[in-house]
Amino acid sequence: MLDVAPIPAFRDNYIWLIRSARDPRAVAVVDPGDAAPVLEWLASEDLHLHAVLATHHHADHVGGARQLVEATGAAVFGPGRERLPVAFTPLGGNDRVSLPALGLEFEVIDVPGHTAGHIAYYGHDALFCGDTLFSAGCGRLFEGTAGQMLASLDALAGLPDSTRVYCGHEYTAANLRFAAAAEPGNADIGDYVRKVTEMRTAGRPSLPSTIGLEKRVNPFLRSRTENVKLSAERRAGRPLPTPVAVFAEVRSWKDMFQ
Ligand SMILES: [Zn+2]
Repeated sequence: MLDVAPIPAFRDNYIWLIRSARDPRAVAVVDPGDAAPVLEWLASEDLHLHAVLATHHHADHVGGARQLVEATGAAVFGPGRERLPVAFTPLGGNDRVSLPALGLEFEVIDVPGHTAGHIAYYGHDALFCGDTLFSAGCGRLFEGTAGQMLASLDALAGLPDSTRVYCGHEYTAANLRFAAAAEPGNADIGDYVRKVTEMRTAGRPSLPSTIGLEKRVNPFLRSRTENVKLSAERRAGRPLPTPVAVFAEVRSWKDMFQ
């Protein structure tokens, strides 16, 4: 199992620290919006940062990359269709990123929607998906369309159920309040609410989730289910004939949801 630790940053971001199975001091980080907490972690455990993986260009995901490169000489990988504040190796769908120092390799998946060039990293039964898939939610559509985002989420939902999902933010509890409103009869959502409340009360991250769990509780992966479709149609006040129309309605509903 891939050894991954969360480094909390800002209010609710997670920078994911990936350890090598081969060399206990060799690590990579995903989406370092802030360098300070990463440098602190590296120093406290005497770790060597070999690589920075970026999923998209937002500052809370890449703002610390330049400082980390200057401090450690780490190689940076990122979305080939976006600009980052640091030199990086551009990646796109079906590329593979190899981290020889860690003995790890990840597959790159194009997941446009939150941003136009957003990518995700998949490998070793783990998915690093930035602001595309959240637990019980998904990213806002800042640059892409509902159709693009649904296709991106469908691609992620097609990964094995056991895949651990490392998202960019701790949004699970708030997302679940919306999930319960969007699909009131779903008992898995109630079970998950209890579990997440317990974890958060104990000060633990709710992440990682798994693809299998997300398929059961995440309304954005459930646009094709009758219950989510009915809820969306009730809110829209009209029939929603396609999964994209259902998804778009659920997404805009969530944007307004308090
Ligand atoms: Zn973002």
